[in-house]
Order: sequence, then structure tokens, then C-alpha cells
Amino acid sequence: MFKGKTALVTGSTSGIGLGIALALARKGANLVLNGFGDSAGPQAAVAALGVKVGYHGADMSKPTEIEAMMAYAASAFGGVDILVNNAGIQHVAPVEDFPVERWDAIIAINLSSAFHTTRLALAPMKAKGWGRVINIASVHGLVASAQKSAYVAAKHGIVGFTKAVALETATTGVTVNAICPGWVLTPLVQKQIDDRAAQGGISADRARIDLVGEKQPSQQFTTTQQLGDLAVFLCSPAADNVRGVSWAVDGGWTAQ
Ligand code: NAD
Repeated sequence: MFKGKTALVTGSTSGIGLGIALALARKGANLVLNGFGDSAGPQAAVAALGVKVGYHGADMSKPTEIEAMMAYAASAFGGVDILVNNAGIQHVAPVEDFPVERWDAIIAINLSSAFHTTRLALAPMKAKGWGRVINIASVHGLVASAQKSAYVAAKHGIVGFTKAVALETATTGVTVNAICPGWVLTPLVQKQIDDRAAQGGISADRARIDLVGEKQPSQQFTTTQQLGDLAVFLCSPAADNVRGVSWAVDGGWTAQ
């Protein structure tokens, strides 16, 4: 389906980004991976699907490193056809205690990095007459939760950014959309479960069931594979006229 196309997924050494990278690779896309931690394992998993894979370790909080990553994708892969802005971090604290450095990091990684990758990717996509930008926002791009002010601000920001750039590209072959997951059991959420267990003096199992049941009516986690398959759909011809949407995959969270 995507043979000859290249996808760049930020934050794809783990969790949702890795799930999306694998789903796109299964459909034939070459992959540029990014993110911290072990990159050899994710690269091997993508390569096993028979596509070309590369890796760039740019820190998404640093615009000059993002520029270097996009230059690497251009020189080693001939550019980016599918851009998935996924890298993200979380910090949970009341606003008056929120560490200034954590606020700045969340805005830089969860929001501004998507501006930097998108501004660099768009002109070549338009020149080719086809492109896909998929921003991994969150239910927290649509509704808020207490103690997540930076994350909610960044995710509402990326939903707005998605709409603005979708309008700017509306008459082109480039579409820009956001995916808004509810709870997905990744390391980012496991940390919140562990904190909840420690604070409440309860088991990790109990904390996990409480966490997902509290906000997500389905009481089921969304899987990274399901999000990968949605990304594949957004890249398919069936989604040529899907523009500027923020697609919730949240077990009913935002229907309440
Ligand atoms: P994760 O912690 O499993 O993965 C995050 C990825 O981002 C990792 O590859 C990590 O190395 C990378 N990363 C972090 N900081 C980076 C930086 N400065 N530069 C480059 N890479 C960096 O988390 P996840 O749950 O898979 O989250 C992925 C995205 O999905 C995030 O934007 C998150 O906000 C969003 N999201 C997650 C959930 C959930 O329930 N897990 C729900 C909604 C939205």
C-alpha cells in the first residue's frame, strides 16, 4: 500500500509511536525511527517486515536537532511522505507546584516539535502532490483532567495546530489530522499507575483497573495496534478528504 513511501514517526522507540511505525511498515512504508532508549530492538522489528529502516536520535525539545533529523530523512530516504508527530512526555502536579522546567519541556516536546517537523516537511510533500501529517494528540486535546495543565495545554494546542495546517493544505494532496487516544497501556501510563499504587497503598493491578475505569467507559485500554491501524486508514485513499479532524479513540471518554 505504501511501497516507496517513507514515514517518520517521532518517539517511535516505545509505545504508540512504535505501534504506528510497525503498522505502517506492515503496509510497505520505509521508516525513520526516533526516540530515546534502545533503538536497535525497534529497528530490527521494523526491518523484519522487509522495509528500509533508519534512526535519528534527535531530542524533540531542540529545534536544531529536529532540523538535523529532517535533513537526514531527506538525504537517506529522499524525504518524508508520512509524518507522525508522536513524541510526548507527561508530568502530573497541581499548577502552583508545577516545575517550570517540566512545563517548558512538555510544551517543547508535545507541541512545538510538531511545528518544527511540519514546517520542514510540508514544502517537499506539496511538491510531490501527496503527504500525510498525523499528530498524536490525546483526549486531553479535547477535555481536561486536573494536575495535567501543561499536557492539556500542549494537547489542546496541537489540536488547534492540526486544524490550522489542515486549512492551509486543504486544496493540496497533503492531509493533516490528529488522533486523540484515551488510555493506552504504555510506559507513559505505567508510571501513572505505579504512582497511583504507591500513593494509595494499593496493588498495581488495582491501580490499573481504577485508572482505566474512572474515565474510560469501555474499561478497556486502546492498543497500540489499533492506533497503528487508524494511522494506516488516515494514510489510505479512503481518507483523502479527511482533513483537520481530531479522532478520539477513547472507549467513550469524551462522549460523557
Ligand atoms: P512512551 O513513553 O511509551 O513513548 C514516548 C516516546 O517518545 C518514546 O519513544 C520516547 O523515547 C520518546 N521521547 C520522549 N521524549 C523525547 C524527546 N525529547 N525527543 C525525542 N523522543 C522523545 O509514551 P506513549 O504513551 O507511547 O506516548 C506517545 C504519544 O501518545 C505521546 O504524545 C502521548 O502524549 C500520547 N498519548 C498517550 C496516551 C496513553 O495513554 N499512553 C494517551 C493519549 C495520548
